[in-house]
Amino acid sequence: MNIFARAASYYFVIQSECEIRPPAARALRVLRAAQLGMCFGVRDAIALAHQQPPSAPLTILGDLVHNETVLAGLRARGIRIENHLERVTTPSVMITAHGASDKTLEAVQERGLRVLEATCPLVHFAHRAVKSLVRDHFHPVIIGRRDHVEVRGLTEDLAEFDVILTEQDALQLAERPRFGVAAQTTQPIDRVRHLVEVMRRRFRRTEIRFLDTVCRPTKERQAAAVEMARQADVVIVVGGANSNNTRELAATCRRFCDRVHQVDDASGLRAEWLVNAATVGLTAGTSTPDPVIDEVELRLRALGGEAVEAGDETAGWASG
Ligand code: SF4
Repeated sequence: MNIFARAASYYFVIQSECEIRPPAARALRVLRAAQLGMCFGVRDAIALAHQQPPSAPLTILGDLVHNETVLAGLRARGIRIENHLERVTTPSVMITAHGASDKTLEAVQERGLRVLEATCPLVHFAHRAVKSLVRDHFHPVIIGRRDHVEVRGLTEDLAEFDVILTEQDALQLAERPRFGVAAQTTQPIDRVRHLVEVMRRRFRRTEIRFLDTVCRPTKERQAAAVEMARQADVVIVVGGANSNNTRELAATCRRFCDRVHQVDDASGLRAEWLVNAATVGLTAGTSTPDPVIDEVELRLRALGGEAVEAGDETAGWASG
């Protein structure tokens, strides 16, 4: 083949490739946080409730999880959910993963009810930590939400205590010779450490003992959410509006990404949230079941995404 013929054949191939493979539009990347969704404490509690035979009617004291899908499944099995012990009419009652105070447990036993204990071992650890602080004569300070069921369980047996959530709360504490600090298990560890530091600076003459009771699944989900949000143009947080750890995940993501949306499930997604976004991050609270997360991911993919694991950069742009 002479030089002109060879050049003509290259031209043809290039032309052909251009014609049959037009430049593809870069796909929207769905970046799933490396750790997300339901923790072992909530999983075990749900499994325990489902193990109860229909012949042994059960009432769950308070929300087992802040997730309507899970709660609807339990109700469908005839399991009741009640916030007040005095309204329980079944012979068995379940204490949720959030735990309960000794006072509540005694009241349950006084009524002659059978107790199903689903308190998470890491909540038990937090209870033991608070008791040890009191035993060693430290004034207990809990970092968390005063109205949260876990915090009520941690504090109901105490003669005196404080609950703080903000810097302002920490600065307004009355001075004491000794503060013993523990945290609600689902608080972001950064906030907890910061508030302990604020207390140390404010009360220089006070002995402060801090026991880290934030649970490992919360720490892992928070750290994974930060890594994901740093790379995302939009973040979707899946979880119930009443779920404390879901709200905290969303708040953490907002520190690294301006466009953060919280949805209960896939039906809450809006296509307009993804406009001009190259990467959408996905995380979920510890009471969000896997199928709900998977459905949200599927819906995002249908909106133009392609799922990848956090850190898997090559797969993320495979079709780009
Ligand atoms: Fe246990 Fe942590 Fe899950 Fe709470 S969030 S149930 S403490 S693992």
